[in-house]
Amino acid sequence: MSKVAHYLQEHLVGEVMTSTDARRYFATDASILQQAPALIAYPRNENDVRKTARFTWQLAERGRIIPITARGAGTDQAGGALGSGIMLVFPAHMNRILELDTKANTVTIEPGINYGKLQQALHTHGRFMPPYPASVEYSTVGGAIANNASGEKSVKYGDTRAYVQSLRVVLANGEVIETGRISKRELSKKLGLATFEGEIYRSVDTLLEEQRIIFDKIPRNVLKNNAGYYLGDVKRRDGSFDLTPLIVGSQGTLGIVTEAVLTTETYNPQTTLMLASFDSFEQLQNAVLELRNLSELPSAIELIDGNVLQQVHNLNPNQLKEVMPAPFPTAILLVEFDSSERHIKKLTKRADKIFEKYATSLQTSTDPEQQQQFWKLRHATGSLLSHNEGLKRAIPLIDDAAVPVEKLRAYIEGVYALLEANGLQAAVWGHAGDGALHVQPRFNLAQVGDRQKAFKVFNEYHKLVLSLGGTISSGNGDGRLRTPYLQAQIGAEAYALLHKVKQIFDPYGTLNPGVKFGTSLEDIKSSLRTDYGLEHLYDHLPRS
Ligand SMILES: Cc1cc2nc3c(=O)[nH]c(=O)nc-3n(C[C@H](O)[C@H](O)[C@H](O)COP(=O)(O)OP(=O)(O)OC[C@H]3O[C@@H](n4cnc5c(N)ncnc54)[C@H](O)[C@@H]3O)c2cc1C
Repeated sequence: MSKVAHYLQEHLVGEVMTSTDARRYFATDASILQQAPALIAYPRNENDVRKTARFTWQLAERGRIIPITARGAGTDQAGGALGSGIMLVFPAHMNRILELDTKANTVTIEPGINYGKLQQALHTHGRFMPPYPASVEYSTVGGAIANNASGEKSVKYGDTRAYVQSLRVVLANGEVIETGRISKRELSKKLGLATFEGEIYRSVDTLLEEQRIIFDKIPRNVLKNNAGYYLGDVKRRDGSFDLTPLIVGSQGTLGIVTEAVLTTETYNPQTTLMLASFDSFEQLQNAVLELRNLSELPSAIELIDGNVLQQVHNLNPNQLKEVMPAPFPTAILLVEFDSSERHIKKLTKRADKIFEKYATSLQTSTDPEQQQQFWKLRHATGSLLSHNEGLKRAIPLIDDAAVPVEKLRAYIEGVYALLEANGLQAAVWGHAGDGALHVQPRFNLAQVGDRQKAFKVFNEYHKLVLSLGGTISSGNGDGRLRTPYLQAQIGAEAYALLHKVKQIFDPYGTLNPGVKFGTSLEDIKSSLRTDYGLEHLYDHLPRS
């Protein structure tokens, strides 16, 4: 065991592991990349995290850089949960609900709590966390905070950032800060602190005062955007200040979250679900744009294209036959409303009118069982992702982009053309209401020809998304995979500004280096997995 592992083993309450098996397990997440950590630690409490950070800081002061990567369930699809140094794995011990405040409608959690478990606990109190990702059953809330995760309900309720009230964060040097909105007066006190925390407040405040204009110039015409760091809303016009929105979505590159206070929403399981079919993407896009103009947004606007339905049907002709028999339309939308009964009636009447204009057929259901049948169409994408064709399998390479909603059609048609030109099967699905769609063509990454093709497609896809004013990181964040494209997306000036933010929080580069900065396309190519698999999902299947 190395000296570092030895030191940590002696000083942490939690376990420290260096075995080949453990290192191999944590060398992958749900991305197509791999990198083995030097050692793994399961922190038992915040103090373990502090001690680890303080130790690596002291080593860094002497010129030795040992990265720390925080990790939840490892379902990150862009390599954000990989690292070459110390892997701090939270679900093992720091996985509790600390307080559920039913008056303030907040919940205080440790980062390693399973998202599905938190959701279940909230449901029993008539509450829920709306921005849950599709990986809700497998992933942790800490991972969702770090990735600013969003999901099918985000079209109405927004992303994770909107629900994080405050955080406890271990800084790169082991100091702990509590974030949350503070007044102008409280900010003055922070600015006077002689600690690393004080330095961070001073530097971020100065940066915002002097260079905010650069950040404001970053195009934000997409509804979901996790590229880079989010500085908006840190300092408001009234002088109040909050580092929370910046830490959320920073993927463990600015600090390590050890506790979070989240606000929750009323959970209303009484919904109305509409299933509309379309024979063109133009009509579908028109419908989505009009749905977005309703007096209250639907709680989901999900798209599944006809290729998904056809491919699922080819795999198993029984899977969809009761809910939607072949031949399939160009695409379908699932549109859900979750307001009060009276309000839902009004909204669905308006939606009816929209679908009358644009859809070729419509079914509406308030019956939970029938709704489950409708949702099967969306969840059928799971069969596509887990299906291998020989050694080819669906991989998350060009998977996380979002475009302005008025560019949906151009985006889907562009993706089809790109995949067709490269001899790949197209299938597109996702959050049409936010312009954020999934595409996971099949490749065999063990084959040189497929790897070359994958990178060609990756490059052209990136160009397509940017030409439409979109972002390549909408839900998952940049991770390692999309880091090489970040500068091209936001421009050199804004990139330099965000790099300054990184340097303020992490001057030695010990916090999840390689994520958001410092990964080139060559690095990506050399850390590709040739045996891509979703074992981290299966390992975290909910236990009943
Ligand atoms: C099938 C599938 C579907 C998915 N669907 C969605 C979706 O709908 N929406 C979406 O947003 N994402 C989605 N994802 C991506 C991913 O599951 C989510 O972003 C999830 O929230 C990550 O949680 P995790 O516990 O797995 O985090 P991990 O993968 O372990 O980590 C994610 C990032 O968070 C950092 N991190 C983890 N814990 C901490 C901490 N305590 N402090 C600081 N940083 C930390 C890690 O370093 C890493 O950068 C999907 C993934 C899969 C495989």
